[in-house]
Amino acid sequence: MLNLYLAPRSGKAPMPADDAIDDVLAFLADQRLIGNPLGADAFAPGVAVAALFHGDADELLLPAELTFESLSVHRSNRARFLPVEVPADEFEAAVCTLCDEPVDTDALLDALEVLVYRPVERFDYLCPSCRTALTLWQIDFGQPTAVARFWIKIEGAAFGRLTAAVVEQIARRLGHPLVIVPEVPEDDIDDWVPARRMRRGRGRGRGR
Ligand SMILES: [Zn+2]
Repeated sequence: MLNLYLAPRSGKAPMPADDAIDDVLAFLADQRLIGNPLGADAFAPGVAVAALFHGDADELLLPAELTFESLSVHRSNRARFLPVEVPADEFEAAVCTLCDEPVDTDALLDALEVLVYRPVERFDYLCPSCRTALTLWQIDFGQPTAVARFWIKIEGAAFGRLTAAVVEQIARRLGHPLVIVPEVPEDDIDDWVPARRMRRGRGRGRGR
């Protein structure tokens, strides 16, 4: 599954006003990119949802396949690192921006995991090459990332690129430039599937 986060490009962007968020949702509903509510601040795709995805998707997918599972608005009382779940490729391309050397992926993942309950300012990772205690902003993750208190999450997106004009319209209403952060949750890694099935099997009390 591919999830996309639309988040402010700057970690210092203020929380958008409720009016601005309502305006974004009204725009998306007007364009029929979103449809019926699926719950609080979550929506099903609209009939024109295919227009949300970049034209390049047309070569790979049928119009009916250009959709998502849900679009939801998220507000957090503290800044969060996005993507929330480590992508399946595990930031293998991540480098320290101070010395340009690759980071230690395992140690980086451990440091990121701690951010679920610790503020991003307390991110604790030592570059193995230049021995600098790096902030999140000093790591190039090899893919877009963000630190944000507000984001729009598109879950189960068919394609990783969105129509630039739509993203611009959303950004204009929110009052700041946006970055699109992709997330490929671990669930998608093939060899994880048997492991998950085994765990589930045990949990259900097999062999009754
Ligand atoms: Zn370094």
